Amino acid sequence: MLKYLEEYHRPRDLRQALTLLKRKEIPTHVLAGGTELVLSKSPNIRAVVDLSALGLDSIEIGDTVRFGAMVRLQTLVSNPDVKALANGMISEAARREGTYAIRNLATVGGTIAVSNSTSTLMVMLLVLDTQVEINGESDQKVSLENLLEKKGKYIASNILTAAEFPNPNGWGFGLWTVAKLESDEPILVAAAAVKKENGKASDVRIALGGVHRRPIRVREMEKLLLEAGTIDEMTKVMPKLSEMISPRGNLRASGEYRKEVAPVAARRALTMAWEA
Ligand SMILES: Cc1cc2nc3c(=O)[nH]c(=O)nc-3n(C[C@H](O)[C@H](O)[C@H](O)COP(=O)(O)OP(=O)(O)OC[C@H]3O[C@@H](n4cnc5c(N)ncnc54)[C@H](O)[C@@H]3O)c2cc1C
Repeated sequence: MLKYLEEYHRPRDLRQALTLLKRKEIPTHVLAGGTELVLSKSPNIRAVVDLSALGLDSIEIGDTVRFGAMVRLQTLVSNPDVKALANGMISEAARREGTYAIRNLATVGGTIAVSNSTSTLMVMLLVLDTQVEINGESDQKVSLENLLEKKGKYIASNILTAAEFPNPNGWGFGLWTVAKLESDEPILVAAAAVKKENGKASDVRIALGGVHRRPIRVREMEKLLLEAGTIDEMTKVMPKLSEMISPRGNLRASGEYRKEVAPVAARRALTMAWEA
């Protein structure tokens, strides 16, 4: 556990934190909640920059919802204003991450930086159309989807400072996980968001976890679902989702199983979103 660590820094200023991170002479890493980082045995982690004194732990809810990078996952679970958003699905997605003890430490920024394939919060953030702010600069915002595709490009020597998305008022959300036990890491995660007008879908978003190295939006499926328009018609086209993914197997389930179960999980998430 970080046995090569020589320096610990807790700057109070973002610029100072960035200067420390960009040093060439000593490999320096961001420390957020530490749930992932402190387990590392890498000889490359010789210094850490703790973000906890930078004031990145605020939640703002207006036309845009903004979660500072140091907001703890358990705060998303218990904060009543967050619970009231997206028919409770943001809080629920955070609740399904790890245990209470882990959620009390783990942060929004750390979850995005790690971007585990089966992270329920990441899959939910994808259907919320999240943008990620880098280094506290408004001109350095990148869509979460784009960040996941080119992860290394945006994260090396940078600090993710916030996650932002348009207020989801008017949308319905659904989340479905497939796992051997509720407390186990999921095999597959599906999230859906639907906006309706006159009984028909006017916008649809679908995201999956556990079918690729990182969580993904399935744009091809979203297009088909929007054309289908109603939940009955959408249910009919959902089996095509299997053809749009090439999941790999691991110790929890085979790739074939994930291919088979993805349309079922996505249909259930979509039905929840439709009925919300
Ligand atoms: C027992 C256990 C259970 C877990 N369960 C889950 C689970 O259910 N789902 C899941 O997805 N993960 C899980 N994890 C993995 C891990 O806890 C999460 O990915 C967690 O959200 C990481 O957040 P953190 O704040 O602790 O990050 P840290 O451990 O502090 O950092 C993790 C990495 O992200 C970088 N980083 C952190 N914050 C930033 C930032 N703001 N800007 C730039 N880089 C940053 C760090 O440099 C480091 O490389 C689990 C881990 C453990 C030990």
